[in-house]
Amino acid sequence: MVAHDLAGRGVRDPRVLAAMEAVPREEFVGLAHRDHAYADRALPIEDGQTISQPFVVAFMIEALDMPADGTALEIGTGSGYAAAVLSLVCARVVTVERIARLAGRAAERLARLGYADVEVHLGDGTLGWPPDAPYDGIVATAGGPSVPEALVGQLAPGGFLVMPVGPLGAQHLVRVRRVDDGRPGEDPTYEQDELGGVAFVPLIGAQGWPA
Ligand code: SAH
Repeated sequence: MVAHDLAGRGVRDPRVLAAMEAVPREEFVGLAHRDHAYADRALPIEDGQTISQPFVVAFMIEALDMPADGTALEIGTGSGYAAAVLSLVCARVVTVERIARLAGRAAERLARLGYADVEVHLGDGTLGWPPDAPYDGIVATAGGPSVPEALVGQLAPGGFLVMPVGPLGAQHLVRVRRVDDGRPGEDPTYEQDELGGVAFVPLIGAQGWPA
């Protein structure tokens, strides 16, 4: 999977490839799907949600360009798979999930597998997670109607935010960078680019889609 579906399709960052190699994806999918754990496709998890396609996980984490000593915020814990991968390319991951059962199971699974640098919280991730802000990188693994203001506001200077935006069926991956212009007292400035079409489950919340 790493050689063919990731490196073979343009994922270059050696830290990301090593992290994808290290995390046992079969531990994050249901028993019924274990035979397909290393196929490059999304798979169903509980509560009608999905674990993202490995290429997309690697591509998004590469796009975050995390500093090795940085803290990342993930919105949409799901199975905990992407959080586990992310935790191997930076120092600490704070991840927020809105469905209690998923948050509980992901926290239990991550602890069991030894991913001690991941903290799982139950909440509406469209509001970010203010207690640990700012973050060196923010990634949402569910797609919203727009980039939530709350998330942009929790980005550290120089940090990237990567998330799917747009109506279901026509989402594209958006990346926002908080530019560090180093001038105290001035409002931060941001740059935005687009990284292609994607298909994610909806981001539901105060600054996302209605439930
Ligand atoms: N990163 C996950 C993918 C999970 S799918 C993995 O690797 O398995 C997206 C998840 O986002 C779902 O579990 C869904 O419940 C969650 N979600 C949707 N809206 C959310 C919100 N406002 N806050 C937190 N989680 C949200």
